[in-house]
Amino acid sequence: MHGEGDGRYDSARGLSGLSPTFDRFMRNLLQNAYSLSTKPRLVPAPQTLEIDGRSVVVEFRRNAQARRLVMRMLKKGVGVSVTLPPGVGDAQALAFVQAHEGWIKAQLKTMPEAVPFATGSTVPFLDELHEIVHDGKLRGAVRNTVDTDGQCIIEVSGAPEHIERRINDWMKREARKALAMCCARHAETLGLKYSKLTVRDQSSRWGSCSSRGTLSFSWRLIMAPYPVLDYVAAHEVAHLAEMNHSDRFWRLVETAFPDMKSSRQWLRKNGSRLHRYGGAVA
Ligand SMILES: [Zn+2]
Repeated sequence: MHGEGDGRYDSARGLSGLSPTFDRFMRNLLQNAYSLSTKPRLVPAPQTLEIDGRSVVVEFRRNAQARRLVMRMLKKGVGVSVTLPPGVGDAQALAFVQAHEGWIKAQLKTMPEAVPFATGSTVPFLDELHEIVHDGKLRGAVRNTVDTDGQCIIEVSGAPEHIERRINDWMKREARKALAMCCARHAETLGLKYSKLTVRDQSSRWGSCSSRGTLSFSWRLIMAPYPVLDYVAAHEVAHLAEMNHSDRFWRLVETAFPDMKSSRQWLRKNGSRLHRYGGAVA
């Protein structure tokens, strides 16, 4: 698998022509692949590459319906996922990744760098930028304050390795509280009832409404301006009556949330930006 090659990786022929990063990557991956060889359905273990000074995760998935190898960027530009169709082995998958290093580089350039929930990071909370500060003495896991200079702060206690998880949990709880308030109000306005409200890390949608009346939302909405979160709540509540995007549906949304246009515009323009924040914690 040198240059065009035959699409297969040959460890005996060495790794000349690969960048040092890919050399390391391939060696790691092959070791993993060999140790997994008794479980043919498994895919190569996720790996981390350094590309242009950024850590890039490479995930592999198998899909019985896939017709060819497909690579796509993961949200936040944290990495790529590679889909393997039936019959494509690990080595071929790795060769595919290697052949597309240039594509990954180009994609990364278009994506803002991920901002982890870590000490020193600045992250939006209700559209206000907050600095994350670690305070080992703090009682309770997370506290939201303003310091004497007027800087908004998210204080987090406990061991440094738990900061990411704690802030993520806190964001989810706050999102839930805000969304429950908004949904209750909109449901009352429209005379509708929902059975359950869940908050998750939905990567592709801000909210959804099931036929059983469960409303689901992305916790990331808590990073947006409040009216944006409120609009998404109204949108999903309106789906309780209209499971479509018909004119009737939009009239319901507008009844519950008259200023929906500016919120929709905000989401279109800024929504993807909210996926930069927080690390691998789902
Ligand atoms: Zn909708």
